Amino acid sequence: MKISMEKLTNYAKNYGFVFQGSELYGGLSNTWDYGPLGVELKNNLKNLWWRRFVQESPYNVGLDSAILMNPKTWEASGHLEQFTDPLIDCKSCKTRHRADHLVEQFDESVAADGMSSEELQRFIEEKKIPCPNCGAFDYTPLRHFNLMFETSLGVVDDKQQTIYLRPETCQGIFLNFKNVVRTARMKVPFGIAQSGKSFRNEITPKNFIFRTREFEQLELEFFCKPGTEMEWFDYWKEASLQFLLDLGLNKENLRMSDHDESQLSHYSNATTDIEYNYPFGFDELWGIASRTDYDLTQHQEHSKTSLEYQDPISNEKYIPYVVEPSLGVDRLFLSVLSDAYEEEELENGETRVHLKLHPALAPNKIAVLPLIKKRHREDAMRLYKKLAKRFTVAYDESGKIGRRYRRQDAIGTPLALTVDDEGQEEGYTIRHRDTMEQVRVKEDDLIAYIEKHVAF
Ligand code: ATP
Repeated sequence: MKISMEKLTNYAKNYGFVFQGSELYGGLSNTWDYGPLGVELKNNLKNLWWRRFVQESPYNVGLDSAILMNPKTWEASGHLEQFTDPLIDCKSCKTRHRADHLVEQFDESVAADGMSSEELQRFIEEKKIPCPNCGAFDYTPLRHFNLMFETSLGVVDDKQQTIYLRPETCQGIFLNFKNVVRTARMKVPFGIAQSGKSFRNEITPKNFIFRTREFEQLELEFFCKPGTEMEWFDYWKEASLQFLLDLGLNKENLRMSDHDESQLSHYSNATTDIEYNYPFGFDELWGIASRTDYDLTQHQEHSKTSLEYQDPISNEKYIPYVVEPSLGVDRLFLSVLSDAYEEEELENGETRVHLKLHPALAPNKIAVLPLIKKRHREDAMRLYKKLAKRFTVAYDESGKIGRRYRRQDAIGTPLALTVDDEGQEEGYTIRHRDTMEQVRVKEDDLIAYIEKHVAF
């Protein structure tokens, strides 16, 4: 079932996954806060990525670098000059548009991200592309807008220095390349991974948490010997896709989109986007780029410090090539939530919202439900405390048991444990979200049983 964006946004808000940012003050455009269930789901996504790409990887180590960096970083990386979007305004209704998006929306077969400003402007004029908001054809000339957020460092006015909120996490990795090689004694090929917030002053943020100005990235910079980058590019493409499938995303909702020559960034010799079929259609989820030696070379030149790597066996010296799989946490969150959302008609005519998240992603792994509030509360609280040492546990004692099951189904809790008179002697009833089957499990076996059913 494909859920609409509006329904998904309302669902996320009503159940405490994602709230509008600063709602109390009328909101702040395009900001979102993750609620009690949302933060659990988001943490699970980040933790599983870390586990797969750092903990379980024989090649990779982690890093947590600062968001604020020496502004020379952005001069070297090219962001100060080139991290811009082509922008035009509709003079008639005063709406702002990304010129490349206008072109692509008008003709899907055109790869607008590879077009120069002049080409974009010409295309819009020749085809007389109307404003998607009011239908007029009356635009300002195209201009470029830098996406980096500026702020200043220092408190005394005349000593202030302009700095930027990082627009991507990977530059912190490049700046620490030598530190990691030296201290972790890493040998090429190896990777450095980090997760964290990035900021882009997007011209047209939209689609709920898909395109926001503050977002979180999961990035891996994988350093390899020049000439071997295509092998590693294929390796990380496969590993990335496999991770998404293992998270339970529906295969039909995923596709790989290779960039052709004209779409490639100036530093890249191959790029593929893994796209997901969001409620508004297919769009980028995970960008995988072969970035050559561009970044390390730029930082070597601007810092005047050698960033060459010396092969310990052949003594050969070179600047490693880089393959980068870069994933947005918020887009991954949107994908798993829309992929898992289902509505089913029950025999009694009621509708069951069934969030069939992979159990490892579920905000709560199990719900503890005393059958009769007063009578079973003590035993239920005892079990809650015991299980909460190992798992995220929901506790709900109010309302009819059927209603309580429904609520847990709607928020994706894979297991529900009902506490009744027989529980201690005969085992507690465990109900499964997906099949609605119930089994009795002895207290001594509970932890192993839950572990087995929520494993990744
Ligand atoms: P787009 O073309 O959608 O603007 P991009 O190609 O500029 O994305 P990258 O620079 O490759 O994006 O960033 C890597 C990943 O970071 C993207 O695949 C996406 O998941 C995430 N990302 C980038 N920009 C945003 C944003 N504004 N909001 C949420 N996630 C983002």
